[in-house]
Amino acid sequence: MQKKLIDPADRIYIINQYLDIFHLDEYQEQDVSTEKIVLEHILKNLTDAAYERKIIESDDIVTRDLFDTKLMGVMTARPSQIIDKFQKYYKENPEAATEFFYEFSQDTNYIRRYRVKKDMKWKADSPYGKIDITINLSKPEKDPKAIAAAKNAKQSAYLKCQLCMENEGYAGRMNHPARQNHRIIPITMNDSRWGFQYSPYVYYNEHCIVFNGEHTPMKIDRNAFIKLFDFVKQFPHYFLGSNADIPMRKHIFLQKPMENLIIPLHQLQEKRGMCMSWI
Ligand SMILES: [Zn+2]
Repeated sequence: MQKKLIDPADRIYIINQYLDIFHLDEYQEQDVSTEKIVLEHILKNLTDAAYERKIIESDDIVTRDLFDTKLMGVMTARPSQIIDKFQKYYKENPEAATEFFYEFSQDTNYIRRYRVKKDMKWKADSPYGKIDITINLSKPEKDPKAIAAAKNAKQSAYLKCQLCMENEGYAGRMNHPARQNHRIIPITMNDSRWGFQYSPYVYYNEHCIVFNGEHTPMKIDRNAFIKLFDFVKQFPHYFLGSNADIPMRKHIFLQKPMENLIIPLHQLQEKRGMCMSWI
């Protein structure tokens, strides 16, 4: 309630959802006013309790993540309410809207703050100047039990990849993360339907992803540039780029780079072509 995820009017309704998940039929009010609330600890204790009560069959990291996302999904408002809120902020200014949505994506634990904190970041010298190096540790390492279970899980024709619109609210399975706490902001670019979201593994601050409403392979063509410009017109405080259109990228997406790239105009006039070295 402090994080404004739960409206006081929904309190009893939400308690009853949790009773159902834990196969309980009663609840006694507890005084937790003096306790420091740490989401990571609460979710850990609840997931331990679920394992002890045999509500989940295994306590591997994948099963635990599927379960604690279900818990967070209960207190995550419906997409229409979040889109409404986003649009209200957007009318004030686009920056207020993305600020709200970034905070929201962390408060719902869709972006797991406590894991992102473990990421390693430093600057290193290179022949091209200082480069930022980051090692992302927020994607959980799967244990062998979870890998074996994922192998046996059937592939879904409904939900083709982690960038499909159908992820919103999805309960997940051993080979696909749960997304009950995930919300997508619909946007229009080049007259087509796109989704705006943050990366759950935020490789850097406000790492946002804009993805096609259809599951179509990555392609860089003239339209890709129209889409990039359509986006920055709507969100002038963000800069957007595209990965290479290599065949392994099965779903078109664009993303905000680590730093807004600013190239002075006179340099652009001097250099007709630029070559980027990928390491
Ligand atoms: Zn897809």
